[in-house]
Amino acid sequence: MAEGPAKSVSRTPPPSSETVSRNMRALRARDTGPELALRRELHARGLRYRVHRRPDPEVRSVADVVFVGARVAVYVDGCFWHGCPEHAVMPKRNREFWSEKLRGNMLRDRRTDEELGRRGWTVLRIWEHEDPRHAADLIMRQLHRLDQGRGP
Ligand SMILES: [Zn+2]
Repeated sequence: MAEGPAKSVSRTPPPSSETVSRNMRALRARDTGPELALRRELHARGLRYRVHRRPDPEVRSVADVVFVGARVAVYVDGCFWHGCPEHAVMPKRNREFWSEKLRGNMLRDRRTDEELGRRGWTVLRIWEHEDPRHAADLIMRQLHRLDQGRGP
C-alpha cells in the first residue's frame, strides 16, 4: 500500500521562493488511498467520527480522523513525508533541502502529539503502509480502553 517516494519527489521541486515554501508547508495530502481505506474500515465497524478536523482550537493541526467524545485524534502519516523507519528514503538530489524538510515534519509531528496530549487528547499515528484492518483494531482497542477508564 505504501507508495514509493520517487513519484512525489519528482513532482515537488525545492521551493524557489519563501511564498512557495510557505505553501508547501501548509500542504498536507487529503483523502489519500490509505486514509480512505482506514475510514471505510472504521465505518464498517460502526464507528462514527469527524474527518479533517482540528482536534483542539488551541493546537494548529488538522487530524485525519477525530473521535470528538473520546478525545482521540488519528493521523495517517505518509511514509515518505513523515519519516517511516521502514520506507523513508532520502532523495539523492537536493539532499540538504529534503533532509531539513523531512526533519521539520517529524519535529512538528512530535510537537503536535505533545500539545494535544497536554490538552487531554490521545494521538494515534498510523503509517500509510499499515493494514487498515490492523489500524482499525488499534483504534478500537484505544477507544474501548478510554471508555472503560471513564468508569460506569
Ligand atoms: Zn512505511
